[in-house]
Amino acid sequence: MDLNEVYDRLPTERYCSGCHACAIRCSGDVPAVQAEWERITEHLRESLAPVDVLRILTEDKRFAVAAGYTIEFCPLYDMKAKACSVYEVRPLVCRMLGFVEWMPCPIERALPVVDEAPDLMRAYARLRPKPIPQWLAETPLPARRPAPRSRFEVA
Ligand code: SF4
Repeated sequence: MDLNEVYDRLPTERYCSGCHACAIRCSGDVPAVQAEWERITEHLRESLAPVDVLRILTEDKRFAVAAGYTIEFCPLYDMKAKACSVYEVRPLVCRMLGFVEWMPCPIERALPVVDEAPDLMRAYARLRPKPIPQWLAETPLPARRPAPRSRFEVA
């Protein structure tokens, strides 16, 4: 499966108005495959200041949608900027939003439905995607590095 070729069939930029209404879908355990995760971590290391990565990965992601109903945003969602912190390198599921029947555009812009999406997802599943929180737990990003040992600590 050539991910770049699949991404090219989901040209969000051509249809999206940038309204951010879909951000509410940036919740739950969004999956990514190894190649996607490598791009995401490179982006976090190269394009963002460590202090921002630390803030994004440690900020409270809970958001009250309605009285008594709270969602938790994706760990990569920047609550301060109200945007995905890795949008340029977001994984396939995020790119499918609006292009598949089961994730329609929330403001009902007419995006072309990708008919072969179920087949794409089956092929994607063979690449062994993992939820982003699991990748984060396994990756030594700035916010995940263990605290330095105290110089008074006995080895
Ligand atoms: S990776 Fe970005 S676009 Fe995808 S769910 Fe997380 S915040 Fe949203």
